[in-house]
Amino acid sequence: MTERLCLVHYHEIGLKGKNRSTFENQLVTNLHRALRAFEPSKIARVSGHLVVEVADGRASEELAAAIRRVPGVARVSLAYKCGLDEGEYVAAAIRALGEAGEFGSFKVHARRSSTTYGLHSLEMNRLVGAALCEAFPDKKVDVHNPDVTVVVHVVQGSTYVYAASAPGIGGLPVGTAGKVVTLLSSGFDSPVATWMVGRRGATCIPVHFSGRPMTSDTSEWLCQDVVEALAPSGIVGRLYVVPFGERQREISLAVPQGLRIIMYRRVMMQVAERIARLEGAKALVTGESLGQVASQTLENIAAVNEAVTMPVLRPLIGSDKQEIIARSHEIGTYDISCQTAPDCCTLFMPRRPETHARLEQVLEAWESFDHEAMVEDLVRCVEWRDFTQCPSYHAPRGGLREHHVELSPWMGGER
Ligand code: ATP
Ligand code: MG
Repeated sequence: MTERLCLVHYHEIGLKGKNRSTFENQLVTNLHRALRAFEPSKIARVSGHLVVEVADGRASEELAAAIRRVPGVARVSLAYKCGLDEGEYVAAAIRALGEAGEFGSFKVHARRSSTTYGLHSLEMNRLVGAALCEAFPDKKVDVHNPDVTVVVHVVQGSTYVYAASAPGIGGLPVGTAGKVVTLLSSGFDSPVATWMVGRRGATCIPVHFSGRPMTSDTSEWLCQDVVEALAPSGIVGRLYVVPFGERQREISLAVPQGLRIIMYRRVMMQVAERIARLEGAKALVTGESLGQVASQTLENIAAVNEAVTMPVLRPLIGSDKQEIIARSHEIGTYDISCQTAPDCCTLFMPRRPETHARLEQVLEAWESFDHEAMVEDLVRCVEWRDFTQCPSYHAPRGGLREHHVELSPWMGGER
């Protein structure tokens, strides 16, 4: 009986030599988690692909769309799975081509991964091609540049037939590149930066600094919305929120106006680095783009960077705002980022921020308040919320839990 399933292609993993099975296993685990709502009956490796099957044998476009959002997936084809009977797979090829939408030309690409199968791939090409020419008399065969390729692949006692495939988000399975802590605001840039490192296989742990209690907590809610939007791709394990308003007031009173932002940022980076060490993360990530705003000049980036020893990844450093905004549409964070909310960055802003900070002045200002006690205190006050869609995330043992409350509404409080 012919059933409908999804075939998952994953080019880049194929290039990874010895690591290949680690990558494939992680992708299978991630797909199981991402596709829970579809209750897949089987997700398994079949000759360089993964197959995703559902119990009633009728995989849907919705299932294919959900698979395409998972990092590591290069392409997804809704395919027919038949036996080795020629009549059955020829009929499936006719159905598949009929469902391929508008096209003028096609070709057949037959493959055999089982050498025990009687027909040679050339004979299969001819057999299926002849049937398709008869079924679609007004369409041309074009073996060099066809609009549609009908693939007929014999493997492990079954034949998979498909004519169309749609691109997935690409990248590598989350969990194959270790953990990173990303500095997340609800602006356009940092959600995109988080998504980009997540797509390259990193398990992301965002940290958001809110202006609470000096501002409302709207920015915290927007950050939760950002993480919810990214959740289907399984890249975020836990969101940390650090109420920073009180400490910012202390900084603003202690240091020269022009250096306030740099001091806030140095504290933020050190808190993020502390959380990263507790989490076993190996890098920090920001959404900075060179020269985009005053705080993102090379001098200021260097003045902030100097506060931490961990590598700081800046995936958007060479991107234009328009490119970042286009990406935010694609990943579903655009509408959230359009909503403005005060966060720690809008609090106690100097009238004239320093754009080319000199390191001696930065270090002098840095020593004018007890930054060590402040960082210590902020780490003690972090709140968090876990996201179960990320199977590669394992919460740190000890270190934080006993001292900390979870982000509301899990506290049951009014927000
Ligand atoms: P974004 O669009 O990501 O908010 P931005 O254009 O507003 O960035 P900046 O305000 O200079 O630029 O922030 C630079 C980076 O610092 C951000 O991309 C983000 O990684 C980090 N950052 C800014 N504000 C916060 C915050 N409230 N909490 C955590 N990280 C932040
Ligand atoms: Mg911002």
